Amino acid sequence: MDNFIDLPSGDDLVNPAIPLRENFSEIREAVRALCAKFPGSYWRKKDQERSYPEEFVSALTAAGYLGALIPEQYGGSGLPISAASAILEEVHRAGCNGAACHAQMYMMGTVLRHGSAQQKQQFLPEIASGDLRLQAFGVTEPNTGSDTTRLRTLAIRDGNEYVVNGQKIWTSRAEYSDLLLLLARTTPLEETQSRREGLSVFLVDMRSVEGLEIRPIRTMINHATTELFFTDMRIPADSLIGEEGQGFSYILDGMNAERILIGSESIGDARFFIERATQYAKDRDIFGGPIGKNQGIQFPIARAYANMAAARLMVFKASALFEAGEAAGPSANMAKLLAGDAAWEAADMCMQTFGGFGFAEEYDIERKFRESRLYQIAPISTNMILGYIGQHVLGLPRSY
Ligand SMILES: Cc1cc2nc3c(=O)[nH]c(=O)nc-3n(C[C@H](O)[C@H](O)[C@H](O)COP(=O)(O)OP(=O)(O)OC[C@H]3O[C@@H](n4cnc5c(N)ncnc54)[C@H](O)[C@@H]3O)c2cc1C
Repeated sequence: MDNFIDLPSGDDLVNPAIPLRENFSEIREAVRALCAKFPGSYWRKKDQERSYPEEFVSALTAAGYLGALIPEQYGGSGLPISAASAILEEVHRAGCNGAACHAQMYMMGTVLRHGSAQQKQQFLPEIASGDLRLQAFGVTEPNTGSDTTRLRTLAIRDGNEYVVNGQKIWTSRAEYSDLLLLLARTTPLEETQSRREGLSVFLVDMRSVEGLEIRPIRTMINHATTELFFTDMRIPADSLIGEEGQGFSYILDGMNAERILIGSESIGDARFFIERATQYAKDRDIFGGPIGKNQGIQFPIARAYANMAAARLMVFKASALFEAGEAAGPSANMAKLLAGDAAWEAADMCMQTFGGFGFAEEYDIERKFRESRLYQIAPISTNMILGYIGQHVLGLPRSY
């Protein structure tokens, strides 16, 4: 079941007089060709072994896709975010999983926007070429969760170094990354005027530090996620990105890109489920006809398709605003919310369409079902997005 059928994507719903974005059809085709070399059997094996899809990540890197957003002057492709979205959408649509490496696409933006000229020159070309991996993002902590500004990991300046103590949880890909983008407190919360102050971002070279312990966490999906423990971990003072104490705003800056790209992955997941379910509903013959002639099967597929196409337009809109340098917060958040919901609706529909066979590993439905569920929780949970819309778009009282 590695083949999928080609359904219209929703592009036809966009008025060509108001171009929201290009379709990037050549890039899409090339990504599909690359993904065809990594069929369901490849991902099932990785999933069973809980092993990192090294070959897939290397192939994406070699093709230049992970450096898509890095400007050409630093060796990247200098593409807009809508091209990166197209790449990740196609990866997921093909049944592959971009989670093994997608963070590099949006994390490098923090270095690009807020790093010094020296840091950009030192790191971005090697990240673009794949010689250095920037895949690990250490924000979440076990005791503070979504309440990011209360995080407790402390980085205290000591001469030409910072000394880091604390703990992170769910730091994905830390075992397979050279660099870690770390958010830590440089001023304890009690000594700040506002919760957003006193947080700083560091680019930590994990290859050369002592005092860092990485413990893998086995989860319901193959995600290479870990816990990090910092015990007097000394890092050079020039690991600091931008100004000390301004780190929270730098992280927020990168979040719209993250929401748009993860939203694109969810659209890809939704398309995977819709295309598989449509094909199966045509092929599966029960009670003397294809199950897809029954409205109990056909309508949920049609509804999932409609919701995917609508969510996809919101992803396009968010990308267009982001690229134009306009405020993209509301649309990027809504894109992530709607795309995550569309993927989960399509996952559930697809499982129901496949009946018992949806549970069989060889069809890849159960694996993608598990994988697509993540995006209701990470990188930001649905409630936090609803809270953002309530407060920042609708002017309702703050809930967090
Ligand atoms: C597989 C995986 C990979 C991840 N990778 C990374 C990573 O690479 N880097 C990283 O930093 N983090 C990562 N995360 C962490 C992820 O971002 C968090 O799990 C997520 O932000 C939610 O935090 P939490 O799990 O602590 O939930 P909590 O903050 O404890 O929340 C639990 C539930 O309560 C709800 N809730 C909390 N407060 C409110 C409120 N005020 N109003 C309404 N509802 C509320 C939440 O929405 C959620 O549903 C990953 C998580 C997973 C599972």
